[in-house]
Amino acid sequence: MNTLEEQLAQVKKEQHETAKLLIRRDLALSRANEQLQALDASKSEFISIAAHQLRTPLSALKWIMHMLSTNEFKDDIERADFISKAAKSTDRMIALVNDLLEVDHLQSRKAQFVFTTIEINTLITAVISEVRELALNRNISLKVFIEKETKLNADSTKIHDLIQNLIENAIKYTKEGGTVTVTASTENDSVKIVVKDSGIGIPQSQRSKIFTKFFRATNAMKLETVGSGLGLFIAKQVVERHGGNIWFESVEGEGTSFFVLLPIGFTS
Ligand code: ADP
Repeated sequence: MNTLEEQLAQVKKEQHETAKLLIRRDLALSRANEQLQALDASKSEFISIAAHQLRTPLSALKWIMHMLSTNEFKDDIERADFISKAAKSTDRMIALVNDLLEVDHLQSRKAQFVFTTIEINTLITAVISEVRELALNRNISLKVFIEKETKLNADSTKIHDLIQNLIENAIKYTKEGGTVTVTASTENDSVKIVVKDSGIGIPQSQRSKIFTKFFRATNAMKLETVGSGLGLFIAKQVVERHGGNIWFESVEGEGTSFFVLLPIGFTS
């Protein structure tokens, strides 16, 4: 009798344990399901925003193609102007598609980082020569102060693109006649790069969103209609994959400084 009761008690205990385990599994499954749904929603949002951004240059291109096929131009000058607009739309789409692919690679950790010793002086000089025309076109004076012999272990292409994005932004978001200053120096065991401009600044209320995907501040959109809002998101991922930090200081209407701190001897 005693053993029967004992056996019954044992079975009840086991049932109780199994029930607890099932509840835990159920909770874990619900949580995983919620995470999958959130991921699915964010992917849909990503595709929807990307498609909307591609639609504008594609529509422009379609219209220009129509004009070309019907030859509705006043003269050769107008024709050449439309062809140049078509080229700009195409460039815009290529840049957007490249940014989208980069975001996907970084998020899915498919992006390959190749760490080698790079010389920051050489890298910034190369970027400056690439952005000089953009600065000239907007009458922006470019000043550069780089400490010589500043080396670090990093992915050369990714750091090049990151610095280019920061300098291009500084030029884009500064009105004619302004100044953009780039400095690079060594600070303890890190390299500090600062891109400072005398531009439009970032509104206080929108600062927390600056490194999020597709975000563009209202004042920036007014001044410069073209932009994906992906550059700084990519920049932050790249800096973090180098064990570094990126941040900014800004006063609306006066200017912005972006800071990048990269450890010299980081290994992935
Ligand atoms: P994009 O320049 O294509 O819009 P980014 O991701 O590079 O995308 O920048 C996101 C937003 O951050 C910009 O749209 C702008 O609102 C703001 N921003 C970036 N750099 C500056 C700057 N130097 N001055 C003012 N606003 C800036």
